[in-house]
Amino acid sequence: MRVLVTGGAGYIGSHTIVELLRQGHDVCAVDNFDNSSPVVLDRIQELTNRTLTFHQTDIRDTAAMTDIVAGFAPDAVIHFAGLKAVGESEAEPLRYYDVNNGGTVSLLTAMDAAGCKRVVFSSSATVYGEPVYLPFDENHPCQPSNVYGRTKYFAEEILRNWQSATDGACAVLLRYFNPVGAHPSGRIGEDPRDVPNNLMPFVAQVAVGRRAALSVFGNDYGTHDGTGVRDYIHVVDLALAHIAALDFAARNEGTEAFNIGTGQGYSVLDMVSAFSRASGRDIPYKIESRRPGDIATSLADPSRANAQLGWRATHDLDDMCASTWNWQSTNPNGYGDG
Ligand code: NAD
Ligand code: UDP
Repeated sequence: MRVLVTGGAGYIGSHTIVELLRQGHDVCAVDNFDNSSPVVLDRIQELTNRTLTFHQTDIRDTAAMTDIVAGFAPDAVIHFAGLKAVGESEAEPLRYYDVNNGGTVSLLTAMDAAGCKRVVFSSSATVYGEPVYLPFDENHPCQPSNVYGRTKYFAEEILRNWQSATDGACAVLLRYFNPVGAHPSGRIGEDPRDVPNNLMPFVAQVAVGRRAALSVFGNDYGTHDGTGVRDYIHVVDLALAHIAALDFAARNEGTEAFNIGTGQGYSVLDMVSAFSRASGRDIPYKIESRRPGDIATSLADPSRANAQLGWRATHDLDDMCASTWNWQSTNPNGYGDG
């Protein structure tokens, strides 16, 4: 298959491209490096011994995107490009709507011009908001509680409306739970630009000595140890879910949402001890107050993806921590090490 990947230099995009190239697909990637480094492109090619086409382009540049999509003539698009920091989305809502929603409209306009009718979209479990019941299934109401979650939900709706207005189109909405881990080679991984917002990269930076201690945001939730519980999913499993989704999109028409998680929850303190085991390092932490907007527990019911995509997560918590540590300890400054 010929696959156009937006946001291909990012954390999840880069891991997905590796799996696509390994399986013999042809890839054209687009990224403006807003939150990534060009170094990752060399690493992807070195890991797979294959070349990929790349354009440094902003997805909101509809004229450029139209040329790229027409020139590459993809069978399908995987749309990762977007902004993802919850706190920043509250401070800069218009930028988030512009990139995440305006960018999606621009991409679909370019796809329409080239007659490309299949898209797999990076959505998020944050579209569900405060749980009405757990685990979340795909029929759970969507009431996102922050701007970032709203941009993801609105992008889903844009894709749904585009698909129903486009003969023969298919839109697959993958609602990721908490992606963590890295490629087993240690050559690519998550490389946050500033202070990490997410738990796992923060823990990894504490373990490697870049940060003094983890702040645990609350230990008074109704969970087994009082700290927040999440459904962590290994990024290689997540990458493989995209390949299963491409296959689904090639065989189906319509819009379908899938939870991409394991169904297994771990608390912040579970993650700290698992990471400490994997790295052989102490992870100092201090308990602080709850982070505004956090929920106690987020857990996927992944059975629809298991049944309809024929996909299932196979990496466990130890794989998640060991691969993160392999990446972090061999690239203590991420792609900044060159
Ligand atoms: P990332 O920031 O590493 O990757 C996103 C990529 O998009 C970056 O390389 C960035 O430079 C690029 N980009 C941003 N704006 C762009 C624009 N206007 N034009 C072109 N490229 C642009 O993030 P990620 O973790 O790989 O996430 C990928 C997608 O998955 C995002 O849409 C994110 O919202 C979604 N998602 C991520 C998580 C997570 O926890 N990592 C969870 C759920 C959903
Ligand atoms: N968390 C924490 N300290 C941090 C970052 C996160 O205690 O520095 C907690 C957070 O409160 C949540 C869990 O770790 O319970 C996962 O948070 P993350 O930001 O990684 O993902 P999300 O909130 O999107 O589920």
